[in-house]
Amino acid sequence: MNIQLVDLKGQYTKIQQEIDAAVLQVVRSGYYINGAEVDTFAEALRNYTGAKHVIPCSNGTDALQMALMALELKPGDEVIVPAFTYVAPAEAIGLLGLMPVMVDVDPDSFNVTAKNIEKGISAKTKAIIAVHLFGQSCDMASIMALAKRNHLYVIEDNAQSIGAWYTIPPPPLYDDWKDKKQTGTLGHIGCTSFFPTKNLGCYGDGGAMMTNGDDLAQKLTMIANHGQKQKYHHEVLGCNSRLDTLQAAILNVKLKHLDDYTAARQKAAQIYTQGLKGVEGIVTPKEMSFSTHVYHQYTIKVEGGKRDALKHYLAEQGIPTMIYYPSPLQEQPAFKYIARAGEPLTVAKELSQSVLSLPMHTELTAEQQTYIIDKIKKYQVG
Ligand SMILES: *Cc1c(COP(=O)(O)O)cnc(C)c1O
Repeated sequence: MNIQLVDLKGQYTKIQQEIDAAVLQVVRSGYYINGAEVDTFAEALRNYTGAKHVIPCSNGTDALQMALMALELKPGDEVIVPAFTYVAPAEAIGLLGLMPVMVDVDPDSFNVTAKNIEKGISAKTKAIIAVHLFGQSCDMASIMALAKRNHLYVIEDNAQSIGAWYTIPPPPLYDDWKDKKQTGTLGHIGCTSFFPTKNLGCYGDGGAMMTNGDDLAQKLTMIANHGQKQKYHHEVLGCNSRLDTLQAAILNVKLKHLDDYTAARQKAAQIYTQGLKGVEGIVTPKEMSFSTHVYHQYTIKVEGGKRDALKHYLAEQGIPTMIYYPSPLQEQPAFKYIARAGEPLTVAKELSQSVLSLPMHTELTAEQQTYIIDKIKKYQVG
């Protein structure tokens, strides 16, 4: 059995005609940067997410950096970031001369909570980057309320959770209360990535920023285009961060399939959770009451220090797995001198030693999952 962590080729094969036509059309048009495809995609993503503004850009890391640039922070200002996450948000903070303040996460959701964040706040704190890890929203109502009390900006890193719905509690937390909103539209700026393996992935690099603020949208648009509104009039320092026309054309096709892709991931997750129920030493992902889960990753916790051994065994059985993430960020050499720990990071440390992400993608078959579940059971229970 050929089991892959992700199966991008299999996914492409199913929509090959649509993709090929879209790609060929761009290639033959002679226009390769910006253009109608990018505008169409921005509009489609606006409609899909409900964000007032969508600004496409080169990748998710750029999106985070430009979001921070738009907030006009001063060197040394502090930005709170989870210690258990992909490096990009902390990297963007550090690159701008800001201080990443690492805080612990919740052991059930793997996400930061208002409680964690509060412990990291100092007089210098200006912003929070809330990462919606593995496909599930942070509890944004309490995070937004905390931010409001402390006059902080909130950037959402939605690279792993596009399409997830957060259930909004009634006012006064949110004045424009609707039942639910998509992740990425809840804070001041939402950032996402279209890296090929993400839930909505293109065939190269891509990203986007979204916001409901008109002024922020203008600033972000300028920053992504060399700080100019009008060509050769540079009002602020900006970047060269554009979404390629080809990638936009591919995303226009794939966005139409995103809900089906999400459903396939959710179904696969259900099969895993059902199959691994009650298996000793395995903790399956917990779905929080306030969010849907779009399962960018299906991440189990392996108890009793047996994670690495289980990973090794599964590899021998032809089952690839990954450890997201093998160490809390503050232990990485890059952050040794530029990060401040906001509190003891006990949970982040424990998770880095117990998490294991199983194969998760839109093409996973029930047969493959049965095999994976059986092997895990065999190892754990004997
Ligand atoms: C992938 C990812 C990013 C970075 O996106 P790129 O497009 O690869 O730059 C940022 N944050 C998180 C949580 C991610 O998973």
